[in-house]
Amino acid sequence: MTAAFTIAIDGPAAAGKGTISRAVAAHFGFAHLDTGLLYRAVGAKMLAGTDPEAAARALTVEDLAGENLRSHEVAQAASRVAVIPEVRAALLDFQRGFARRAGGAVLDGRDIGTVICPDAEAKLFVTASVRVRAARRHLELAGKGDKRSFDEVLADVEARDRRDRERAEAPLRPAADAVEIDTSEMDIETAVARAIAVIEDLRG
Ligand code: C5P
Repeated sequence: MTAAFTIAIDGPAAAGKGTISRAVAAHFGFAHLDTGLLYRAVGAKMLAGTDPEAAARALTVEDLAGENLRSHEVAQAASRVAVIPEVRAALLDFQRGFARRAGGAVLDGRDIGTVICPDAEAKLFVTASVRVRAARRHLELAGKGDKRSFDEVLADVEARDRRDRERAEAPLRPAADAVEIDTSEMDIETAVARAIAVIEDLRG
């Protein structure tokens, strides 16, 4: 088993970080944590009537497997509970513990390189223009039978971006030492290859 090695992958919604993170984890044989799921699980519990802070403290691994966590309502609820400092604090230890597990870990989210793992060995910030991200999300939702228009999806993505970037606690921004990958003009294979090349370089 290799020593701990943490790869932090941050960026806004629908920039491609989920796909890149899964591919990077598979390439290096590392464990992967999609930290957005933690906030989505808390958001889903809030929609069901539970106090978000209490939900964050009591979160279990089973809660992360909920079927509705990918819905647009839950995404918006996630970004609303994510502004609550007590919610973020309750999720901190779990994320840090995961990051330092033996064998290496990839965590993707909004604040991994800045707050959760400021000492991560590799940090990427994956972005794309807001229109490209909205177009990708629109296509993905349409594939699931969601009938919302491109403009509605664009407005959702913009609202979530604003909440994530402007919140006081752990706002979305690149760490000073993060390598930025703009995927606006890249297909997913190119973006994954670029991410792997950057990390190989950092591993030495
Ligand atoms: O990445 P995903 O779209 O699943 O994240 C849902 C929401 O959870 C984000 O819009 C953001 O508000 C919040 N989040 C966060 N910090 C993270 C991961 C997600 O605040 N590390």
